[in-house]
Amino acid sequence: MKLNEVTLSHHYANLGDAFGTLVDPTPFKHPHLIDTNPEVMQLLGIDSDEVTNPAWAKLGSGAKLFQGSRPFAMKYTGHQFGVYNPDLGDGRALLLGEIDSAGRRWELHLKGAGKTPYSRFGDGRAVLRSTIREYLAGEALNGLGIRSTRALCIVGSDEPVTREQIESGAMLIRVAESHVRFGHFEYLFYTKQLQALQQLVAEICQRFVPDTQGRSVGEQAEALLRFTTRRSAELAAGWQAEGFAHGVLNTDNMSIIGDTFDYGPYAFLDDYDPTFICNHSDHTGRYAFEQQPGVVLWNLNALAHALSAFVSVEVLRDCLEQFQPQVSHAYATRMRAKLGLTAEEDGDQALCADLLQILQLGEADYARFFRALAHYRGERPATGLRACVADAQHSALEQWLKHYDRRLARENSDSCIRDRTMLAVNPKYILRNYLAQKVIEAAGQGDYYPLRTLRQLLQSPFEEHPEHEAWAAEPPETGKRIPLSCSS
Ligand code: AMP
Ligand code: MG
Ligand code: MG
Repeated sequence: MKLNEVTLSHHYANLGDAFGTLVDPTPFKHPHLIDTNPEVMQLLGIDSDEVTNPAWAKLGSGAKLFQGSRPFAMKYTGHQFGVYNPDLGDGRALLLGEIDSAGRRWELHLKGAGKTPYSRFGDGRAVLRSTIREYLAGEALNGLGIRSTRALCIVGSDEPVTREQIESGAMLIRVAESHVRFGHFEYLFYTKQLQALQQLVAEICQRFVPDTQGRSVGEQAEALLRFTTRRSAELAAGWQAEGFAHGVLNTDNMSIIGDTFDYGPYAFLDDYDPTFICNHSDHTGRYAFEQQPGVVLWNLNALAHALSAFVSVEVLRDCLEQFQPQVSHAYATRMRAKLGLTAEEDGDQALCADLLQILQLGEADYARFFRALAHYRGERPATGLRACVADAQHSALEQWLKHYDRRLARENSDSCIRDRTMLAVNPKYILRNYLAQKVIEAAGQGDYYPLRTLRQLLQSPFEEHPEHEAWAAEPPETGKRIPLSCSS
């Protein structure tokens, strides 16, 4: 499909006034294209030779609308840091409409597009820095096989936007199969719009839990909660296994289909530290790395509360009780793969926990250690692995490797095949904050080459790219634990 043939549909906006408000974007006066994402274009069925079409600058900044577009600000509420906030909604993003491609429906959402009735005191804008961070994070997680919203393109401007300092405004077109958050359900429940709540349950079920068609609202709501619980468990397990800290796991940032959603002060771990808090305004560590599965369950409870309009408490509880075993199972599956284990053994959990303790005490870089483990061939001394871990943990590491060697010996798998499968799940390239920072600084000077390079590396993070070895280097001490604020 050519870019000028893209025609949007509006199943969500057509649900009615209870769901939001039609709002025109406030375009930038002088937009310029920063990057288009060929992988997302392909998902949407847009021809690959459209990547450089100059029309993207206008389409990606609201200056020109896709055919049939009817921009719509979605209403939602949610629990922020445990406290209910009734005043949320798309304050700076608009649902442009939907595209059907290859049997899937994708929603296009323009972020940074100006004020809406839900902007409160906000300016409706997004800054270049946070827009780049969101753009790259979607590719990084997707590249690691973790569900995430993604972005189609990113557009810059000369429009000043005030945060802690003056920055420049930017927009991106976020793409997801759904932009419905837990908070959409909370809004309709707490404002007692049960008819609309029932409509939303039916809409999400029709698209994502199709075997509930024709069933009662109670049965649909239960099936929806089971679906979202399972997706959220897989999501949380993915974050924990790959070292991703979201930073602001409020219920308005939780996707009903289990995508990583709404990027703010997120971080990938450099050194392995389960207590790591990436958001410097999270004083209590509510959203610390190791808290994430528990907090996702807390959020599922908030969703379940909203569905208590249709489902008994006993059934809701039964749905939520599935979460913990699902996370454990999904996490164990991922970690076993990272360790190169195909069979399941009782001691695997302990083997993994022992290793994580060595990594924590040894201040080891999480991703680099696992990549080195993929290259490990039982050699002594295990030079590559020792280099990742502080001296004080070397003897613990040697002990652990003895167990690991014995465990591998029971595997019956060919070590050549194991190397290959381990290299295919332990990334060489991850989105470290200091790399994002480098890309942002270059972009601030009008140089988008580093951004495009990193985007491409994150799209194939397991492959070697010898000409880009520097992007896989050990981070400098000053590049670790960069404090990040919520301002975006
Ligand atoms: P967030 O912290 O990004 O999850 O956003 C929380 C709420 O604030 C959402 O309703 C956003 O739409 C809104 N919001 C965040 N930033 C802005 C902004 N610059 N202008 C208007 N609304 C905003
Ligand atoms: Mg949000
Ligand atoms: Mg946000």
